[in-house]
Amino acid sequence: MKALRWHGRKDLRYEDVPEPSPGPGQLKVKVALAGICGTDLKEYAAGPCLIAPDKAPLTMGHEFAGKVAAVGEGVAGFKVGDRVTGVGYYYCGECYVCKKGLYNLCVNQDFTGLSIDGCMAEYFVIPAYACYQLPDEVSDEAGAMVEPLAVALHAIRQAGVRLGDTVAIVGDGAIGLCALLSARAAGASEVYVVAKHKGRGVLASSLGATAVFYLDDGNPAQQLQKFTGGPGVDAAIECVGRPDTPQLAVELTRRGGTAVITGVFEQPGTLDFSTIMFTEINMVGSSIYVHEGRTAVKMLADKRIDPARLITSRVPLKDAVELGFEALLNDKETNIKVLLRI
Ligand SMILES: [Zn+2]
Ligand SMILES: [Zn+2]
Repeated sequence: MKALRWHGRKDLRYEDVPEPSPGPGQLKVKVALAGICGTDLKEYAAGPCLIAPDKAPLTMGHEFAGKVAAVGEGVAGFKVGDRVTGVGYYYCGECYVCKKGLYNLCVNQDFTGLSIDGCMAEYFVIPAYACYQLPDEVSDEAGAMVEPLAVALHAIRQAGVRLGDTVAIVGDGAIGLCALLSARAAGASEVYVVAKHKGRGVLASSLGATAVFYLDDGNPAQQLQKFTGGPGVDAAIECVGRPDTPQLAVELTRRGGTAVITGVFEQPGTLDFSTIMFTEINMVGSSIYVHEGRTAVKMLADKRIDPARLITSRVPLKDAVELGFEALLNDKETNIKVLLRI
């Protein structure tokens, strides 16, 4: 079968690999669509960041929709032919955090497409616990958005967003825009987006952002203050992972509010700690998801969240490098989520 494998930075190859078979507790999935994540893009352009270089060559990808092709020993609740989506984590179930149900923090974690072969292939295997049935109301395209939506939903939960709260999203990528949709679904009364790219900012506005503050127009925290005349938002969600974005998230947040860090950092950032000490702003991390994949499927099924407009192109797997990865690197105005057709 064909797979897209990471051999090194700027070295992804579309090549033949043996078809996998599911181990105990696993499903073999025939992939229909695989999404290119910001993480995948970082591994391509600047990796290894999170990918395990000693596992290379490794098939990339952890965002997918497909059909069950084979069921491993001991799996209940799935049969061949079921339409499924899923999330990326492998957890051990035995460590102290797993025992508390915090599977996203497992100390023995593996991750699909980063340490174990992923979904940018005709078939891949995945633990059944990381998979969800897709109801008829959820298309394959929407199903392929479940993983990034789960990341965003977890961040909104980490922020403790409540009905009527005000929220600022730092970042105009797929996770930032999923966080905008999730904050609105959570009942936020105002959601502001800090954007770098006009094309994405315009989309954020049409998806319901109260206002978009562009980095080119000066300090976004001052823009927010000018726009609202107020003290900052109840919660800011950092979805970028650049050295200065945590500080920006804090500056957007009101005294006593919450700043959530969701971005993946290639380099350490800086923070003026007096900006959290005197303000009692809570800084909270948000790492992937626990059960939010299931929540995402439900919210897609009843249309509380519609990510269709984040999907900006669909390209064949064999053209993934040029029409997917390079296109995303070179044109962030028009490309947001690229789906690979398999
Ligand atoms: Zn992802
Ligand atoms: Zn564990």
